[in-house]
Amino acid sequence: MKIGKFINILLIFLVIVLTISVISYLVNQDHQIKQANQEIIALQKKNKQLKNNLEKTKKDKQIFISLVNEKLLSIEKLLDVNDTNSVSLNNKLNFISNEALYRRILLENIPSGTPVKYLRITSSFGWRIHPTEDSREFHPGIDLKTNMKTPVLAPADGIVEYAGGVRGYGRLLMIRHNLGFQTFYGHLNKIIVKYGQFVKKGEVIAYTGNSGLSTGPHLHYEIRYLGQLLNPYYFINWNFSNFDFIFKKEQKVKWEGIQQAVKWQMYLFNK
Ligand SMILES: [Zn+2]
Repeated sequence: MKIGKFINILLIFLVIVLTISVISYLVNQDHQIKQANQEIIALQKKNKQLKNNLEKTKKDKQIFISLVNEKLLSIEKLLDVNDTNSVSLNNKLNFISNEALYRRILLENIPSGTPVKYLRITSSFGWRIHPTEDSREFHPGIDLKTNMKTPVLAPADGIVEYAGGVRGYGRLLMIRHNLGFQTFYGHLNKIIVKYGQFVKKGEVIAYTGNSGLSTGPHLHYEIRYLGQLLNPYYFINWNFSNFDFIFKKEQKVKWEGIQQAVKWQMYLFNK
């Protein structure tokens, strides 16, 4: 009888332990399911966010591509490039970047743009009556009226060939450029570069003045090609967008040789 009671108690105890275990197992499972659900929700959220980001990137890319195409069209127009519709985008871009580089090389090595902020042109290139000596003479450059001490900027890359005084010219600066060009700057107030120094296009090289035979502050600007005097007016107005006009306007320059030299250098560089 005692043993029977004991077994009963033991059985009850076992049932209780089993029930507790099952309950705790179920509770644990429930907890894990809840956690998994939360993770799924978080992942879904993340997924949605990624999708949104992707959509936005896609839209941005589309906008970018249409902008590039638009720019490409305007560049083609600027470069006067026709009939490139049948050409692949890659070839087109290659062609355009080559043409742009070619123009840049020419515009940085040959004097282009104005070397000084001027008020007006007081004397053009060619025959004139000399302003101080009252006699007929050939004016070898252009006179650009400026305020006193206006910065003079190099119109092309080059090496300083002369910086000093010369009768008539006053304080004179000469720069030797690539491809056969040379520029002169007369009547300066101050020269800030030295003989033999390399100057980059756009760099300040001097300040305008009234030295030498001069009736007021101005820059006497001269351009020579292989020793020949050129009309600086065309070069002052030469830039990227009217690139071709100089070849027709300035026929004293043997442009073909220059074009060959630059294209050869570009070829060597790309090899
Ligand atoms: Zn002059």
